[in-house]
Amino acid sequence: MSAATHRYTTQCHDLVAALAVPDPFRLDEFLALLVARRGRRIELRPTHLGPTATCGLPTSGEDVDILEHPIATTVEHARRLVLHQVGHLLLGHPCRSVGQAAADADERAAVARLLPGLSPALIRRLLGSSPYAPAQEHAAYLFAEAVLTNAGARRQCG
Ligand SMILES: [Zn+2]
Repeated sequence: MSAATHRYTTQCHDLVAALAVPDPFRLDEFLALLVARRGRRIELRPTHLGPTATCGLPTSGEDVDILEHPIATTVEHARRLVLHQVGHLLLGHPCRSVGQAAADADERAAVARLLPGLSPALIRRLLGSSPYAPAQEHAAYLFAEAVLTNAGARRQCG
């Protein structure tokens, strides 16, 4: 394990240890816990991310964080993608503004009008590129894994 990976892993496990991750894990309960702790609403927005997406883009409004909730995928994949975005939020990675999110949606709609045969997921993949550095993506991935591992570890102990 590289020094950077070790540092991110430690940071993620510390973050998760400070949270009361529901056991058994329920995403809605976990998000409600975050809302109570952070004093900011969390809204899940159904999105065409596709079954192979590894990252959604969180959007921050004045008093709300909007997380992309992929449709047309498995419950497990959707849960990991939402937790990945929570990782970006809690690790302090910059989020899109509401204005940027609207501009992105307008761009996707324009492409859909020009090329109506393309699926929404493919359009997202063609236009979308993550604004995050690989190290930030890795840290968000580790956070999601730490949440799920934490819940699973306690279930095995209990
Ligand atoms: Zn990401």
